[in-house]
Amino acid sequence: MKKHNFSAGPCILPQEVFQEASQSILDFNNSGLSILEISHRSADFVSVMEEAQNLALELLGLQDKGYKALFLQGGASMQFLMTAYNLLDSKAAYLNTGTWSSKAIKEAKLFGEVIEVASSKDKNFNYIPKDYSIPEDADYFHCTSNNTIFGTQIKEFPNTDVPIVCDMSSDIFSRQLNFEDFDLIYAGAQKNMGPAGTVLVVVKENLLGNVDRQIPSMMDYQVHISKDSMFNTPPVYAVYVSMLTMRWIKKNGGIDAMEKRNAEKAALLYEEIDRNPLFEGFAAKEDRSPMNLTFNLKDEAHKDQFDTLWKDAGVNGLSGHRSVGGYRASMYNALSIESVQVVVDLMQKLEKEIN
Ligand code: PMP
Repeated sequence: MKKHNFSAGPCILPQEVFQEASQSILDFNNSGLSILEISHRSADFVSVMEEAQNLALELLGLQDKGYKALFLQGGASMQFLMTAYNLLDSKAAYLNTGTWSSKAIKEAKLFGEVIEVASSKDKNFNYIPKDYSIPEDADYFHCTSNNTIFGTQIKEFPNTDVPIVCDMSSDIFSRQLNFEDFDLIYAGAQKNMGPAGTVLVVVKENLLGNVDRQIPSMMDYQVHISKDSMFNTPPVYAVYVSMLTMRWIKKNGGIDAMEKRNAEKAALLYEEIDRNPLFEGFAAKEDRSPMNLTFNLKDEAHKDQFDTLWKDAGVNGLSGHRSVGGYRASMYNALSIESVQVVVDLMQKLEKEIN
């Protein structure tokens, strides 16, 4: 049975990427060797790393603009502390829009003063705070562009001279932004980019080298830049599959085309959430994410009936995160609109069965 994968991450990737990636395990580039058994210093892999770095910058429109792309380990969670390690000299400003921002704040506090400029905790993070000011003397401003758990997304970023550091783990390559407005972007691979195991960091080089503290080599962006992400053995396979996914994004029209498709998919499901009397959306309408759509049954009594419906239809990963409950449809780039239609049809089926 065809599966419709709404998992929040690790999650769906394009089928053709899975096919090419699986072939590379048996025979990589007709070399007679698996990608899993070649040296990361071999010409074949060095060209994968270079292509991955170039594609990341190209898709974001950041080539030849003073940025470097790195593929590191430790996930986005490592970036919570690495950003502060490298950038926090005296104080930094953070916007708290959910679990991941809160975790970033916790780590940054180990390195200096953290000013929480605003938080949406008062309403269980169902909205994005808008009225806040960023201290002009902050070393940087940190925000999370898309809140994977609560289903909110920042639509407008602040206009500030303070460098912006952004966790784009759950919406990288899904929508067009003026990426030059950001000084450092990081994103765990395991949503729109690839398998778990690597994190993309895109950093403006002139942001670095401004803190007094000593930075251990593995934590130091400048060390990783000087070694082209090869300071130690990189996560070879995760970088390779990320590279294949970025090739797929480019071949399919780049970020603009992804954004258009994602908007159509999101409109289809949000319209049903708003129309169907059995359901209600969780996130404030103006802040709704097209990547992670959170919604609840108005009457929990229908939960078992709905859960049976979608599980029997081959839908995977629709249960909400425990801090929100209800449902979360994660609709990353590779998810087709046909899969979204399946969920919409099931919501309508539930409505008919109950009435
Ligand atoms: N930031 C965001 C927005 C996330 O969604 C996640 C994980 N889902 C993380 C950070 C943490 O990522 P990792 O598991 O790669 O450390």
